[in-house]
Amino acid sequence: MPGIVFDIKRFAVHDGPGIRTTVHMKGCPLRCTWCHNPEGIAPEPVEVLKEIRMGNRTFHQKETVGKHFTVGELYADLIKDRVFWDESGGGVTFSGGEPLMQHDFLLEILTLLKENGIHTALDTSCLTSLSLLKEIVPLTDVFLADLKTLNDEEHIRFTGVSNRSIIQNIEWILQHGYAARLRIPVVPGVNFNDNSLQEFLKFVSNKPFESIDLLPFHSIASAKYKRFGMENAMHDVPSLSREALSEWKAAFEKENFNVNIGG
Ligand code: SF4
Repeated sequence: MPGIVFDIKRFAVHDGPGIRTTVHMKGCPLRCTWCHNPEGIAPEPVEVLKEIRMGNRTFHQKETVGKHFTVGELYADLIKDRVFWDESGGGVTFSGGEPLMQHDFLLEILTLLKENGIHTALDTSCLTSLSLLKEIVPLTDVFLADLKTLNDEEHIRFTGVSNRSIIQNIEWILQHGYAARLRIPVVPGVNFNDNSLQEFLKFVSNKPFESIDLLPFHSIASAKYKRFGMENAMHDVPSLSREALSEWKAAFEKENFNVNIGG
């Protein structure tokens, strides 16, 4: 079965170790109000009208977001970057959307990459069944596990789903000795408050996360929402600066974690 990919980012430096090629796969079961990749949420390719400005004239061109790849086609495209991975200790990261939505395809491409000695990372919401997770873990060198809030009511309110199985899956990954970084999107009006910070500190305490990655909210996706004709619940929320997260960074560092701002 082919996979559906909506973007391949080359030379990514925030999606795992070294220089990486990040594959954004279509489909996501969450509906985060601040989503930076709204074009990745629908599982199928979507047609959009792209606005092109030339001088004072505006043109509209149809564009399809999302392309089918067989495992062989995707591998052939990715492997062109091998020299950069080998030089930098990098590899391939699967992101989304939610890459676990295309579980069978993901399993096949991860198997092929591992057979060829390539480092793999999975940027995931960790919303999946334990049985599917167990198939993926041996093929994934590091999980970039996203956690939005520890408060389940708020999680449902801001993402549309409960965080219970997400938390259980993150804990399972760590308890079974697999590598994980915790990624926290820090979003004003959602989790950017002292109460959330204290809950996160309690959660990470004594857990062997490789690092804590703080992802400050930015309003850069506003143009995408306009382009895709989607409602943007965060349209009037300004971006959060790196400096605004210095207190959060210091708090995790005090607990001896390696902290990155921006991934
Ligand atoms: S999990 Fe990621 S891709 Fe899915 S809705 Fe949330 S921010 Fe968007």
